[in-house]
Amino acid sequence: SSFTGLGLNPLLSAHLISKMGIEKPTSIQRAALSATLSDSPERDFFIQSQTGSGKTLSFLLPIIQDLLPLGSLSYIDRSIGTLAIIIAPTRELAKQISDVLEHLLQLRLRAPDESAEENNASRLTRWLVSGLLIGGGTRTHEKARLRKGLPILVATPGRLLDHLQNTSSFNVAKCRWLVLDEADRLMELGFEETITGILKCLDGHRNLALQAVKDGIGREVGGWDWERRRRTILCSATMREDVQKLANTTLTQPMMIKA
Ligand code: AMP
Repeated sequence: SSFTGLGLNPLLSAHLISKMGIEKPTSIQRAALSATLSDSPERDFFIQSQTGSGKTLSFLLPIIQDLLPLGSLSYIDRSIGTLAIIIAPTRELAKQISDVLEHLLQLRLRAPDESAEENNASRLTRWLVSGLLIGGGTRTHEKARLRKGLPILVATPGRLLDHLQNTSSFNVAKCRWLVLDEADRLMELGFEETITGILKCLDGHRNLALQAVKDGIGREVGGWDWERRRRTILCSATMREDVQKLANTTLTQPMMIKA
């Protein structure tokens, strides 16, 4: 089967083939895409797969496809904040994910007979910018980028929590995707508490924003389901007990996806 056959946007499928040389989904991508692209938004996902199986695209593609309709909103701007956060255990892995993401976001199609859909995709990707928060550099530079707005973020846990607690312009109230990649390594490296802290911050920001809209002081953005619950994708090579524990605290009605 093809990516399009699994429900992936034809523009994204064409981009995978022409710009990344990726023609056919791997088995984990088939399983993950058929679930994430069709299933009810009430469910989260546990993807069990090894590195090298193509798991990165299996979580990046559903996220990008979910954000595509934003391209049709004329008033969209980056002050909307961060809509998706991908957490990786190490800087190296975060950089790898970010590289794949940047390739995907080069999706820019301007056919002469541009259909509405193509128009949306090219507008979206001008606005949809990714960023990396992995420490090692100065906080000031990361803070400046966060102030401008980074719709998709790849981060290591410590630096992410640091910014959530200390960078006032970091807006995560509308964050609608969270990925915990290599959850087994996240646990091995002792990040459980950091992740709990991150979840608390995300929920706190969101609840404040929802309350503000209710009270009539927040800015409501029409034309899109901003208030949809955040969906979480957890990836792990193993189903060890500590990973199960993390899954229990981070996932709601998880669907198991295995190649
Ligand atoms: P990952 O497991 O996500 O780290 O991917 C491992 C490698 O497989 C990367 O170099 C990808 O570019 C490549 N890859 C991912 N999906 C596919 C695919 N459907 N067809 C061919 N190569 C792929």
